[in-house]
Amino acid sequence: MNMAGKFTISLLVTITVIASIIILSGSNSPTRRVANSAGAIKHTSFRIIEVTQGNYLHEGVHVRFDDPQHDDIANIGFILGEKCVAVIDTGGSVKIGRELHEAIRSITDLPICYVINTHVHFDHVLGNLAFVDEKPAFIGHVGLADAIEANRAFFLEQFTEDLGPEPSEKSVVGPDKTVENTLELDLGGRTLLLTAYPTAHSHADLTISDQKTKTLWAGDLLFRERIPSLDGSLKGWLSAMDELKGYDVDFVIPGHGPSSSNWPEVMTAQEIYLNMLLDETRQAIANGLFMEEAIETIGNTEKEKWLLFDQHHRSNISRVFIELEWE
Ligand SMILES: [Zn+2]
Repeated sequence: MNMAGKFTISLLVTITVIASIIILSGSNSPTRRVANSAGAIKHTSFRIIEVTQGNYLHEGVHVRFDDPQHDDIANIGFILGEKCVAVIDTGGSVKIGRELHEAIRSITDLPICYVINTHVHFDHVLGNLAFVDEKPAFIGHVGLADAIEANRAFFLEQFTEDLGPEPSEKSVVGPDKTVENTLELDLGGRTLLLTAYPTAHSHADLTISDQKTKTLWAGDLLFRERIPSLDGSLKGWLSAMDELKGYDVDFVIPGHGPSSSNWPEVMTAQEIYLNMLLDETRQAIANGLFMEEAIETIGNTEKEKWLLFDQHHRSNISRVFIELEWE
């Protein structure tokens, strides 16, 4: 590419970044982040912003699973090195994956060497198919391959329309490289540290830390605004959060909700909610309540603090009840 071409592209990128910053700086304005009657927050078009140097984020919307935008609820993005690109989660459909892919190609021509999934949930993995032609290594927690196999038929049945024009079980792409404890990836002038956790939010949680900018992609180990959903172990999640607190982090990108430099205080709201679940469920069991009774009584003090509270709160209590019943 000649200099003029390079200049045009860098000018375009600059304009995009400035426009994004303007949009982002408006993100706390009451007009954009107003929840609708279902307690949801929506965006209208695919946007990606450089939140820290080389870390590009597309922020998901807060809507219910039955909303047409259910495939765009997770925070996804990519990290740009001097040699290649690492994608962090791919969204809840092949369509969102393609939009992320296009966004990457509007910013760089470098190869995509890694597609990293933070865990198995549909909103983070179903866009993987959009990256297959780039021939990256697909990377996840050591438990992710089994988790994908266990969910393959379910994904095909529940998310048929999100799996591209020819949906089949092959449309769900799992990892070909897994992480048991930690793994370092070199993107050229930038090292990523991947860390795998024992069962916490899910059975296969992985975080990605960009060592250059101390940016942590926390996956669903951290929810903000949207009610946290438990699909693993409450006690495991709380201990994963204790481990995270010890990390040297300048900027954190949660799995859902706005990113932040307020580390580790940004985890406090979630910690209060999870500790409430632990304490009140323990108390309900000690008082001899049945699970149905516990579900009616636990956690109403938290209701106003979280969006889409009704979508997960009750199932969270039932999971915690089962986890704590025999302790
Ligand atoms: Zn998620």
